[in-house]
Amino acid sequence: MYNNGKTRQLRANNGWKKKARGSSRFGGKRGFSGDSINVNRFINKAEPIKPAEVFKPQYSFDDLEIDYKLKQAIKSRGFVDPTPIQEKAIPVVLAGKDVIGLANTGTGKTAAFLIPLLNKILNNPQEKVLIVVPVRELAIQIQEEFRALAQKMGIYSVVVVGGANIHGQVRELRRRHNLVIGTPGRLKDLISRKTLDLSKFNNVVLDEADRMLDMGFINDVKQLLALLKKERQTMLFSATFSREIEKLVKDFLKNPERISLKTRETSNQIDQDIIRIKNEDKIEVLYKLLIQTQFEKVLVFSRTKHGADKLSKKLQQKGLKSDAIHGNKPHNKRQRVLQNFKRNSIDILVATDVAARGLDIPNVSHVINFDIPATYDDYVHRIGRTGRADKAGIALTFVG
Ligand code: ADP
Ligand code: MG
Repeated sequence: MYNNGKTRQLRANNGWKKKARGSSRFGGKRGFSGDSINVNRFINKAEPIKPAEVFKPQYSFDDLEIDYKLKQAIKSRGFVDPTPIQEKAIPVVLAGKDVIGLANTGTGKTAAFLIPLLNKILNNPQEKVLIVVPVRELAIQIQEEFRALAQKMGIYSVVVVGGANIHGQVRELRRRHNLVIGTPGRLKDLISRKTLDLSKFNNVVLDEADRMLDMGFINDVKQLLALLKKERQTMLFSATFSREIEKLVKDFLKNPERISLKTRETSNQIDQDIIRIKNEDKIEVLYKLLIQTQFEKVLVFSRTKHGADKLSKKLQQKGLKSDAIHGNKPHNKRQRVLQNFKRNSIDILVATDVAARGLDIPNVSHVINFDIPATYDDYVHRIGRTGRADKAGIALTFVG
């Protein structure tokens, strides 16, 4: 059943093309220009990490000209050497330049902007940083990384995302803080309530910029950027790039330094293959995979929210520890499910694209595309939930 490389020769799956065209949600608007996905793109052998090819950074964190306290925090966080994107981006951000950072998923983009920005704040407590992200879980995750790095520094951050009680966020915004991390809708809401004044913000990070545009946040993002201080540093990070982003860059970034570390479209630590479903029951095929011991911690992608719930329930009925995460679930419930998966109280998380974007979940062994992704970019982001940091990962895509 597990593909052994033979399917490499197979042609594009036309059945998929028809299905994609027929559904308005997956129309050209989402940036996928009508070509069908060639399933061969879902097959990529992982490249074994050879000792000779292991990335050797030009400097260690200790060599950086950053605050001693920050160096200590990086050390206690367990980071010794910068990742390639960090190596390139940190000095540029420290120098105060605008940055566009393009690097594969799981390569440490978060710390690439948090470390130099924290240093800026340590040097000048007046610095204000806005971080705009597409989904609330990502905001919380960035805050967690921030808190780990800013320990005992007396520097505070506020997360403002939809789905959570706004009054608590209003209260937090009244207290001293240097960082606001939020999703476009809630940020706008708080601005219109006059609780948040962006005119003092002189640093902005757009994380997962491509997804923000995919989700239709382009105008919101533009409005937010227009409200910021004119003299500011602007940073844009993403794992994929598009023409729309180029437009945004042209309008809102000043002489940005472009850092691109993508050698291929997906991380070479992810072993990618397809599984052909002929006349079998898809759920049975999935079940037979999930009960194998090497499928330790599995993220399964479903196309719809309803499908995610249904699939997770079916797996539970079969005795597996599974749960679902998608946009229809209340915020606190999503957060709880995610924590359960992170802490291994469940082994299988069934998710929709939006719910899983950008999430850093340690040690996901497999990503399974139970439903084929709508676009290749979605594919890249889905499978990017595995093979993170120094770990290897496996991505399997069910094709009809
Ligand atoms: P990305 O945003 O590029 O998808 P993340 O910022 O979420 O990636 O980082 C992926 C993982 O790598 C996180 O668990 C993070 O703590 C870890 N990480 C980041 N930088 C380093 C480093 N220099 N050394 C070791 N691990 C790191
Ligand atoms: Mg990220």
